[in-house]
Amino acid sequence: MNAHNKYKAFTLANFRQIPQLEQFTQEQLFDIEVVGNVLPFKTNNYVVDELIDWENPFTDPIFILTFPQKEMLEPHHFEIVARLLKAVANKATLNEAVNKIREQLNPHPAGQIDYNIPEIDGLRLTGLQHKYRETLLFFPSHGQTCFAYCTFCFRWPQFVGVDEWKFAMTETETLVSYIKLHPEITDILFTGGDPLIMSAKRLAMYIEPLLSPELSHLQTIRIGTKALGYWPFKFTTDDDAPLLLELFEKVVKSGKNLSIMAHFNHPVELSTEAVQLAIRNILATGAQIRSQSPVMKFINDSPQIWAEMWRKLVNLNCIPYYLFVARDTGAQHYFAVPLVKAWDIFRNAYQQVSGVCRTVRGPSMSCTPGKVQVLGVVEIPFNGELRKYFALRFIQGRNPDWVGRPFFAEYDENAIWLDDLKPAFDQKKFFFEEE
Ligand SMILES: *Cc1c(COP(=O)(O)O)cnc(C)c1O
Ligand code: SF4
Repeated sequence: MNAHNKYKAFTLANFRQIPQLEQFTQEQLFDIEVVGNVLPFKTNNYVVDELIDWENPFTDPIFILTFPQKEMLEPHHFEIVARLLKAVANKATLNEAVNKIREQLNPHPAGQIDYNIPEIDGLRLTGLQHKYRETLLFFPSHGQTCFAYCTFCFRWPQFVGVDEWKFAMTETETLVSYIKLHPEITDILFTGGDPLIMSAKRLAMYIEPLLSPELSHLQTIRIGTKALGYWPFKFTTDDDAPLLLELFEKVVKSGKNLSIMAHFNHPVELSTEAVQLAIRNILATGAQIRSQSPVMKFINDSPQIWAEMWRKLVNLNCIPYYLFVARDTGAQHYFAVPLVKAWDIFRNAYQQVSGVCRTVRGPSMSCTPGKVQVLGVVEIPFNGELRKYFALRFIQGRNPDWVGRPFFAEYDENAIWLDDLKPAFDQKKFFFEEE
């Protein structure tokens, strides 16, 4: 048996036991610990043994993706935590300081808390988000952790306890009632954390009721997961892998589309035997695999990486889906790629691949009004001079009527998010801000 397929997590409590870290200095280990006290930190033996290049850890994308980096915190935040750790401050003092810092890292981007929570008879369903007409987001309460944590994760507040897992729901009955009341819903998207952290048996308790003939308007069940990247054994050698694959087959046989929304950040995640077998096993059930990822500095900010990733995905019969822009939360200042650079990376990669890879869309920002795609930079004459503008459009909108409508913003080479943009042509507001 392959030693890598027995799950072992490494967190702040035990990461110094990772054998490959023996080459690190005490200072380097301390830096990991400082940042790991503020942002979530968890990795596992598969990521450590099979994905990270330990010859060059400090430039390795998977190392940066999973191990906290000193520069992820602002220097003054880093200093506060470093000083408290060195002084062996008591837990309460440390927690208070750490929570203050977390509050300054925009833990609730895109209005998640205030807007999208639906109701039945005045009861707020906190495990659901219904932002886009067709698609219901569902946060099963047992799927709110992951096989490893990404250092850039925008869900980080729930892993470090800021959110107390506000978006979580236990009862399938409420879920089914809500979908019954909403015939416009065609898709449900299981998200987390990672829903596949659940046992196959528990997942079946959520999914099987959705196959009932009363919910025939529900046509697609999607599962957002990083398991293929962080723990492919979930689909191969784990005890409940056969049961999980059987469940997938059952969904497909019921006539619904099952889409595994995989999260691959770098082509190296597609290179191991374990992940390739996992992909084959999933596809053999009749399910589809789509892949989405943000573009992040130090991890995948080059067109070659993206072109290679899309090509590899298609070779493995997966479907490239989204290229996202880094969200405005957590360590965004560290990972942020300006919009114009994100567009450049997207366009350059897109030009290198054939049409079978061009199912991908991006760069896309998941903002409060919707998913906004940067179509590109254009030059348009205005007030007698030729000026640069961003052309944008909604891929998804809080109001479905916004979708597909191009609009313009002033060009700004430093802009990293929709909030940084100003409407073009001396307009006071963007059209979607009028409502
Ligand atoms: C991205 C997203 C979806 C799914 O959108 P698709 O474009 O259909 O993939 C659904 N709900 C929310 C809140 C989202 O951010
Ligand atoms: S796997 Fe997804 S939810 Fe989990 S830490 Fe990574 S980005 Fe966040």
